[in-house]
Amino acid sequence: MKRDLAAIAAREHDVLIIGGGIHGAFAAWDAAQRGLKTALVEAEDFGSGTSWNSLKTIHGGLRYLQGLDLPRMRESIRERRTLLRIAPALVKPLRFVVPTYGHGLKGREALAIALRANDLVSRDRNEGLPAPQRIPPGRSLSREELLHLAPGVPAAGLTGGATWTDAQVSSSERLLVGVLHAADAAHALLANHARVVGFGVSGDRITVVRIEDMVSGEIVEVRARVILNAAGPGMDEVLGLAGSRRPPVPLLSALNLVLRRPVVRDHALGALSNGRYLFLVPWAGRAIVGTDYVPAATADPVEDGRRFLDEARHAYPWARLEPADVALVHRGRVPGRSARQLAGRHLLVDHARDGLAGLVSVQGVKYTTARAVAEEAIDLVARKLGSGRPSRTAATVLKHAAPLPGTLTQQALAAMKDEMALTLSDIVLRRLDLVSGGLPAESELDAIVLALSDALGWDAIRVAREKAGLSESLAGLAL
Ligand SMILES: Cc1cc2nc3c(=O)[nH]c(=O)nc-3n(C[C@H](O)[C@H](O)[C@H](O)COP(=O)(O)OP(=O)(O)OC[C@H]3O[C@@H](n4cnc5c(N)ncnc54)[C@H](O)[C@@H]3O)c2cc1C
Repeated sequence: MKRDLAAIAAREHDVLIIGGGIHGAFAAWDAAQRGLKTALVEAEDFGSGTSWNSLKTIHGGLRYLQGLDLPRMRESIRERRTLLRIAPALVKPLRFVVPTYGHGLKGREALAIALRANDLVSRDRNEGLPAPQRIPPGRSLSREELLHLAPGVPAAGLTGGATWTDAQVSSSERLLVGVLHAADAAHALLANHARVVGFGVSGDRITVVRIEDMVSGEIVEVRARVILNAAGPGMDEVLGLAGSRRPPVPLLSALNLVLRRPVVRDHALGALSNGRYLFLVPWAGRAIVGTDYVPAATADPVEDGRRFLDEARHAYPWARLEPADVALVHRGRVPGRSARQLAGRHLLVDHARDGLAGLVSVQGVKYTTARAVAEEAIDLVARKLGSGRPSRTAATVLKHAAPLPGTLTQQALAAMKDEMALTLSDIVLRRLDLVSGGLPAESELDAIVLALSDALGWDAIRVAREKAGLSESLAGLAL
C-alpha cells in the first residue's frame, strides 16, 4: 500500500470513496474487485473514526428478535458467518451469558424461547465454517449453572440465565487494514491524511472533488464518475460541502470503558441496567464494558465517562470497579436519537434526487454488517455506471487480516513502509494496536521511536513532534 495523491489526481475514477472507516474500506475493496477504477481518501488515518471505538462484538442480531425484524437479523447472521470465514485469524466465536430475574419479558422462560427462535432463524449459521469457527446453539441455564459461570452476580431473585454464542473481532483496526490491503491488491488507489474540503459543481453534476493533502497542505482536484460519501458520522458535513440541504441525521456519542482487569475471562456477561443490557466483554487479556449513548450535541467527554462508570459499578457490583480500573475510554459518534432509538438501518441515498447527480451517500450502523452495506452501496454505484459485475467480497479470504508479524520494531517499520502509517500515532494506535487495551509502556514507545529514527532519519525535532502528537491522541482517551 503506497500513498500517492498525485496518482489519484492523475486519472478519472469510476468511483471515488470519501472516508476510510470500515464502510469505506469494504466499499473500496468491493468496487476494485469488480474491476471499477477506484480511489479512496481518508481525512485523518484509516480507521481513526468510529471504527476504532467498537465494542468488538460481531452480532448475530439476537436483539432484533424483540422487534421481529427478521430481515435485519438474517443479515447480521450472514455477516457474522462471512467474517468468521474471511477473517479467521481475527474473528472468533465468543460466548455470552446473562442472568435472569423474575418471569417477565426478560425472564428465564422468555429468553429460552428467544434462544430457540434464534437457533431456528440461524440454522444455516455454520455453513462452510471449520469446526473452531462454528456457533453452537444457545440454551437456558439453571440458577446453579449461572452462579457457577458468574459467581458474583446478585443472587436475590435470580431464576437462572441464558447463554448463546456470537463472535468477536480481536482487532477492528487490523481487520480494516486487511480490507485495505485487499483493495490495494485489486488496484484501488488509497490515501490517508487527505481530506475532502470542497466540490466543483456544474449545473446539477459534481465535476471535481477538492482534496487537501494534510501533510503538504496542497489542494488537489480529483475527477470521478460517481462519488461515494462514506464519511460515517461526518456524512452531513461532506454533504454540506456539496451544497446539499438535506436535514442532518441526529447523532449520538457512544462510549465504552476499557478496563485494566480481566473481570470476565472466557465469556461476555450481560446485566440489565436502565432497561437495557450492558455487556462486560473479555478482550485482549482485559475487559470492555459498553455501550452507553448520549446525544452528541450535549456530550461531555469527562462527565459522560464518569457517569457511565457509575452505572457500570451498579450493574456489576461484584466487580468493584474503580476509576483506576479504567485504562481508556472509547468514544465515537453513531446515528440515533437515544439509547432506545439507535438508528435501526443503514442509509443509502442517491443524491441525484436532491439535484446532485453523481453523488451517493452511505451511512452504516454496525461494524458487523459493514461488508454487506458496502456491497449494496457498490451495487448502486455499479448500476449508475452501467457495470454488471457482482460482488465477491463475501467469498474471498482476507490474507492480511492478522497482526503484523515480527518484533515490535519490525512491525513499526512495516506499518510505515507497507501500510501507509505516516505518524507515530498511526503506528501505535492503528497498525500495532498497542493502545486498545491501555496505554503502551514507555519502553515500547522508546524502542519504536529509536528504530524509526535510525531507519528514517528522524531528527530530534521530528521525534518531539511525533511524541507530542501521540500524547495528544492519548490524552483524548482518558476517563
Ligand atoms: C462505542 C462504540 C461501540 C460500538 N460497538 C460495536 C460493536 O460491538 N459491534 C458493531 O458491529 N458495531 C459497533 N459499533 C458501531 C460501529 O463501530 C460503526 O457502525 C462503524 O465503525 C462505522 O464505520 P464507518 O466507516 O461508517 O464510520 P467511521 O469509522 O467513522 O469512518 C468514517 C471516516 O470518514 C472520514 N471522513 C470524515 N469526513 C471526511 C472528509 N471530509 N474527507 C475524507 N474523509 C472524511 C473520517 O475521518 C472517518 O475515518 C460501535 C460504535 C461505538 C462508537
